[in-house]
Amino acid sequence: MIDLAGRRAVVTGAGSGIGRACALRLAAAGAHVVVVDVDGESAAKVAAEVSGTPLVADLSAPGFVRDIPSGIDIVVNNAGFQHVAPVEEFPPEVFSKILKVMVEAPFLLIRAALPGMYERGWGRVVNISSIHGLRASPYKSAYVTAKHALEGLSKVVALEGAAHGVTSNCVCPAYVRTPLVEKQIDAQAETHGIGRDEVVEQVMLAPAAIKRLIEPEEVAELVAYLCGPHGSFITGASLPVDGGWTAR
Ligand code: NAD
Repeated sequence: MIDLAGRRAVVTGAGSGIGRACALRLAAAGAHVVVVDVDGESAAKVAAEVSGTPLVADLSAPGFVRDIPSGIDIVVNNAGFQHVAPVEEFPPEVFSKILKVMVEAPFLLIRAALPGMYERGWGRVVNISSIHGLRASPYKSAYVTAKHALEGLSKVVALEGAAHGVTSNCVCPAYVRTPLVEKQIDAQAETHGIGRDEVVEQVMLAPAAIKRLIEPEEVAELVAYLCGPHGSFITGASLPVDGGWTAR
């Protein structure tokens, strides 16, 4: 039983996919969730679903952190996006934006939340990394760089926070069934002239042992576990949810 009653959580990118599932799961455990997203409509919708607080913010603009309420016990750094291009053609401004949203924003959010967590002697930081925080893939230079950086940040926070009851971990999924990935499946099925199931099994999950997409709820369950009592000794870890991908 994971009881987060009285805890206040911030989940970024909570308007969709994994972030939404995390918001739902943490709220189901009793936490009050601040639903942060650049998309105001989805932030409002999810906030209503979880009886939480919507916060419309573009995490690529550092000023967002001023709008984060005080008294945050749980930070879930989830917002992110992908851009696929070879390094020599990768737009520098997109590279920079990916690092802002996926590395600098988590740093700023953690930095803002830690003093209160230290004061209360309890805090949970969960960073939604990726197998791309542990492994590289071609054409994803910014994303792979950002996720590896997030892994480093997470470990430093684990070391600094330990004496104050704060844990920090990365959750590293392979392909999760989110709107983002569903669109990629359709596009690849058309490009390769094969069925959607074949795209998932033969193209996307070629390196994985278990050939199915992960459900957002499966990722959210691990996030909740890390926030619950049995997660208290897990810190500085990178937990793959990848169907055996990184076992190779
Ligand atoms: P998604 O596109 O369904 O949701 C991402 C959310 O982040 C969206 O609601 C979007 O509006 C928000 N967002 C994007 N840029 C933002 C910004 N500048 N400011 C505020 N909000 C912003 O994506 P998802 O698949 O749920 O991915 C969530 C996280 O999980 C990402 O960090 C992603 O890298 C990671 N991840 C996803 C997968 C996967 O297969 N889907 C696998 C591993 C890791």
